[in-house]
Amino acid sequence: MPGSSPRGCSASPLLDNDRVILDPVSEEKPICSAKGCRAGAVWVLAWNNPKLHTPERRKTWLACEEHREHLSQFLGVRGFLKDVVPLAEWDADGESAADR
Ligand SMILES: [Zn+2]
Repeated sequence: MPGSSPRGCSASPLLDNDRVILDPVSEEKPICSAKGCRAGAVWVLAWNNPKLHTPERRKTWLACEEHREHLSQFLGVRGFLKDVVPLAEWDADGESAADR
């Protein structure tokens, strides 16, 4: 009697050596917030919309070197921009501080 049933034993029938891993680092790597930009973020733009947020509240956008000016200008003309901080410093500072 030829042994096993064809189904039930193979966990991953479609195992594929060529499988491409999409965005292997996307979980952790902060990406620029500019539309269509996939560059790594270098800057944190802290902003606040007084119509939506309490004054202490900080929303954040991330920006690469190239888009820092563009994004901060976008926020700046609306009077939303509060701070531009290097990502490294922002991390060191902790986000919880900005939340309360
Ligand atoms: Zn960018």
